[in-house]
Parts: sequence; C-alpha cells; structure tokens
Amino acid sequence: MTAVMRLPPLPTLREVIRLYGLRAEKQLSQNFLMDLKLTNKFVRQAGKLTGSHVCEVGPGPGAITRSILQAGVKNLVVVEKDERFKDSLEMLAEASNGTMSAVLEDILRFRFEDHFPKEIYRDWQDECPDLHLIGNLPFNVSTPLIMQWLEAVSNHTGPFSFGRTRMLLTFQKEVAERLAAPPGHEQRSRPSVMAQYLCSVKHCYDIPGAACVPQPKVDIGVVHLTPLKQPQINLPFKLVEKVVRSVFHFRQKYCQRGVEILFPHGREDLLNEVFEVAAIDPTTKPYKLTMDDFKSICWAYYDICERIPGLIDYNYR
Ligand code: SAM
Repeated sequence: MTAVMRLPPLPTLREVIRLYGLRAEKQLSQNFLMDLKLTNKFVRQAGKLTGSHVCEVGPGPGAITRSILQAGVKNLVVVEKDERFKDSLEMLAEASNGTMSAVLEDILRFRFEDHFPKEIYRDWQDECPDLHLIGNLPFNVSTPLIMQWLEAVSNHTGPFSFGRTRMLLTFQKEVAERLAAPPGHEQRSRPSVMAQYLCSVKHCYDIPGAACVPQPKVDIGVVHLTPLKQPQINLPFKLVEKVVRSVFHFRQKYCQRGVEILFPHGREDLLNEVFEVAAIDPTTKPYKLTMDDFKSICWAYYDICERIPGLIDYNYR
C-alpha cells in the first residue's frame, strides 16, 4: 500500500478556475481555499488517511480533494451540488487512477449506503470504521448539516450505519467555538450540548478568512468530531433536542424559565417535579449546566411524558 499518492502534473487551482470558468458564486456563499499547504494541514486533522475511504462534501474546484488524494486514500467519493464543477472534478477523477469518483448531488440527499462497501462496517462498540467525512461547506449548509448528522449519529443511520464515522468539517469560527464550548464557557449553547452528548468534539484551529477567494467576512473554525461509544444521554434525539432548545430559549435567564416552556401554562407542579427529581438548582444559568444536569433534566421530562399522554407533543407557542 502506498503511503502517499503522486498525482500526475495538473493545472494549478487558479488555472482550473480560469479554464473551466468557475468563479465563486456569491449567492451560494462559495469561497475557495487555494493554498495546498493550508489544505494539507486541514486534511491532516482527520488523522491517518492512508488506505481509508473518504467522502468529501462540497469539493468545489478541488483543493482539499487534491490533499485527500495525496494522503494515499483507497477510495474518495466527492459530493458536489454545483454542476459547474463536473468537468474539473472529472479531470481530478481521471488523474486519480480510479481512486476518486464524483457525484453531482446535494449532500442532504446522498445515500452513503450506495457508495461505500459493506466491508468497512464496524460495530458501534468497536474501533471507528475506516470512513471519514471531510468538508469545507458554506456556513449556511454546514450548520444544518451537522444537526442532521448528529441525529444520524444517534440513530446509527446514513454515514453512521457503518459505525462511528469521524467528521472533519469547517464552520464559522464562532459556531466552531460553540460546538466545543465546555459548561461555563461564554459560548456554551444548544450546539455545544447537542454535539457533545453524542461526540467527542475538538476545535482544532482557525483558518483566517483571508486564506479564501473571495474572502468571507468571518474566520473559519476547523472541527473534528468522533461519535462516542455511549451517548451521554441515552434518550431519543428529538426529545433531547427539544429539552436543550427549550433550556437555551432564555439564555440569559435562570434555566427554570426554559424548562417551564416544556409544559402547558399552569403546570408549575410538573416544572417543580423536574427540578426535584433532577436535583438541580433552578436558578442555574443555562450555560452553566453540566452534561449530567442535562441528562437529569431530560430523564425527568421523559418520565413525566411517559406518565402524561400527549405531553411530548406539546410545543411552546
Ligand atoms: N471545498 C472547497 C474549498 O475549500 O475550496 C469549496 C468550498 S465552498 C465554501 C463550498 C462548496 O460546497 C461549493 O463548491 C458548493 O457548491 C458546495 N455545496 C454547497 N452546498 C452543498 C450541498 N448541499 N451538497 C453538496 N455540495 C454543496
């Protein structure tokens, strides 16, 4: 097995962009990484990729794609929504000698099961499978996508039907900080709890916006996520999401204000029951609650919902 892949001489990224007329579309929030040293550093954060299977989301003109190929992967499937990139991605696929294939599709519709072999499956309690998700997507796509993938982590579906598939993704720097923020951190918020109850989250480093063409107004945070063998809260994703969303609905107030909206008006008895059962001070600020606190609140709410038919469907406003 080769440690690295040498690609045949290729046009530079600038030449590819000029040759194929690939100006970044502002309306699609496209901006491209052009420096292969930067994309090599980014790809290294995924760990050792030699002989691995990788799905790259939103390759654009292909800077990250080149770095992934050079890391000596066994199989790379790139998923790009914008058809303008078809020819330039096919050129890279040809240069890769069968290692890479390009699928022109929205990642939200992409069926992983159809593109990766069953043999890479690893039991959830086993080591992570040799499959990595890597991508520098527009921020307005990566933020909803990570919530969709966290739900898939919880249900072991999509890319996580192969096991604890690791993810290396970029976000707006502040979102990256939120995803990794521990209790008490000023950025602690809904994404922190949702990501950390299911994954170990590492905010690796930031890429200055100036490294992209055209330059976005904000810096880019690189985040690596590894699904946990045991979720910290072993309850359905939708229930956890509802509780966490409600608690952070009133971020600056005491956490009891957020828990209150899980129940119809006038059911202070149920609100009090949550705090009694969970043994949490109701005047704690949401950002100070630990994962164990969230676990206790979620379980207390779950038990009440089991007792009172229809309560789970109650939504504030
Ligand atoms: N990864 C390239 C880079 O770093 O230079 C391009 C980055 S650009 C910010 C994001 C890319 O994701 C664009 O090529 C865009 O067309 C693609 N994209 C956006 N939404 C997508 C989606 N839902 N599915 C697949 N690709 C998408």
